[in-house]
Amino acid sequence: MQVIRLEALSDNYIFLLYDRIQNIAAVVDPAEAEPVLKQLVELKAELVAIFNTHHHHDHVGGNQQLMQHFPKVTVYGGAEDQGRIPGQQVFLQDGSRVQFAGRVAEVIFVPGHTRAHIAYYFPPEIAGEPGDLFCGDTLFAGGCGRLFEGTPTQMLNSLDKLRSLPDNTHVWCAHEYTLKNLQFALTVDRDNTELQQRLDEVKAYRSRGKATVPSLLGVEKRTNPFLRWEQPQLQLITKSNDPVQTFARIRGMKDKF
Ligand code: ZN
Ligand code: FE
Repeated sequence: MQVIRLEALSDNYIFLLYDRIQNIAAVVDPAEAEPVLKQLVELKAELVAIFNTHHHHDHVGGNQQLMQHFPKVTVYGGAEDQGRIPGQQVFLQDGSRVQFAGRVAEVIFVPGHTRAHIAYYFPPEIAGEPGDLFCGDTLFAGGCGRLFEGTPTQMLNSLDKLRSLPDNTHVWCAHEYTLKNLQFALTVDRDNTELQQRLDEVKAYRSRGKATVPSLLGVEKRTNPFLRWEQPQLQLITKSNDPVQTFARIRGMKDKF
């Protein structure tokens, strides 16, 4: 399975999962249909699945047009999103499994950004290779999603679940927010030298117009302040050693950054 990253809207990424052998594809969070259709024409591939992480328009906006082009496509989303995802046919829960081209992904329920948000985790095909996590607007490179429908406790629990995956996991998040996220991160985690290095790298990448997604989960664990609520530096700056309070205060500071 190959992952092809497509740009959409102003800063969204759409991920096309492509299986060369069967010449089939699946798409994660089609913000719009055009870039997906264009890529599928180039590959001469058939779209068999749409995997949605949550109901926001910049994640499901292309569903209907893709369904018109591929009437046999199956549309997946979270069970709690019933009625909010156009064309949804499969209602997934924590621990549900979905298949694509012989690969099986585990569904992880990650409420917080929305109350119904799910992530899809494909363990590595070959031991030692990176797995693939499609986490929508829950975990970002260097940051996390805003809390629109969930509480800090829910989001912390969700991020904790994602944090338990192997370090060697590709984090395929749905937006190119990395530079701004890391600029904020350094204001709360100032002595983190790996974070400083990462910010420098990302600045260089972005100045050349290069994408910073996917990142690696191990790097996130060491540099993303929204996975680091136990770190003394973050507890100091938030004046709390309570994980939820530390997390909530960092999120509140980021909202105003
Ligand atoms: Zn969203
Ligand atoms: Fe989004």
